[in-house]
Amino acid sequence: MSQKKKRSLTGLKPTGNLHLGNYLGALRPALELSKSYDCIYFIADLHSLTQTRDAQALASQVLDQVATWLAIGLDTDKHILFRQSDVPSVTELTWYLSCVTGHGLLEKAHAFKDAQAKGQEVNMGTFCYPILMAADILLYDTDVVPVGKDQKQHVEMARDMAGSLNAAYGELLVLPEPLIQEEVMLIPGLDGRKMSKSYNNEVPLFCDEKTLRKKLMSLKTDSTGMEEPKALDGSTVGDLFKLFATKAQYDDLSARLAKGGMGWGHAKEELFVAINDHVKEMRERYVACRKDEALLQRELAKGAEKAQAVASQTIKRVRQAVGLR
Ligand code: AMP
Repeated sequence: MSQKKKRSLTGLKPTGNLHLGNYLGALRPALELSKSYDCIYFIADLHSLTQTRDAQALASQVLDQVATWLAIGLDTDKHILFRQSDVPSVTELTWYLSCVTGHGLLEKAHAFKDAQAKGQEVNMGTFCYPILMAADILLYDTDVVPVGKDQKQHVEMARDMAGSLNAAYGELLVLPEPLIQEEVMLIPGLDGRKMSKSYNNEVPLFCDEKTLRKKLMSLKTDSTGMEEPKALDGSTVGDLFKLFATKAQYDDLSARLAKGGMGWGHAKEELFVAINDHVKEMRERYVACRKDEALLQRELAKGAEKAQAVASQTIKRVRQAVGLR
């Protein structure tokens, strides 16, 4: 008899203009999990509200994310993709968890400590977001939560809160385990630093070919003359090329550059071809899906219904246990 697959949960805030770093560092590894787990993916629009005040952009970025998941190949019949706010009982569970959580626990949260250290004003959403995150996890009877080492704390907090509720009212919530993801490689941006919107060095995932080429041509290289030998190893061109080319292609370009007589411009052109080949089909699917708003709304409705079916069981259990009948 085949064993029931464990359930994994991944949430991503809706942000516009995803870049190659987001794809290789977050989206692709999350999608990989769908091969071994029963996966739930959610678009964390409630979490975005701690920062954004642009309602129109938020609504549109939710649709961007639906189109992105479809474009990269998520099978929404086998797995669940939904918008967090479509299942409002997550905020109800947040309240039940809040009532068994000491504020000392939240004062230890990284995001709160970082914001405080930077002297930023901290709204209650930012202070309480670990409880909303715990509710996200616990509402869906999640077995595993894929996280980087630095985010292990979130899952531990969710376990603490579930433990407190269970201790008070009986075994109600599944205790989730962190699924520590291997060290995600750091994707370099056009200036060699970590690819990030805040450094303005990103290569967009779904921009058109012309923009992609232009972006890659602006990649910073040293000023070695055309005729001189060049080392692909250790260069940003090389670091990016490695991620998209085969080993044979990498070794070949490396040998031609080392011989001399080849400028960085030519190498960047080959980098463009490698990246473009990799993203071309996804980009076409993205553009087609993003235009088809009816499709995106249907996907959201389908996801909401499936997520709601799981959530309603949990919330019913908790409501009854705490004495709200
Ligand atoms: P951000 O919107 O910058 O917080 O990025 C969302 C997620 O994308 C991060 O949590 C990482 O998993 C991934 N990511 C972003 N930038 C990079 C990068 N340069 N290299 C690898 N992963 C990245």
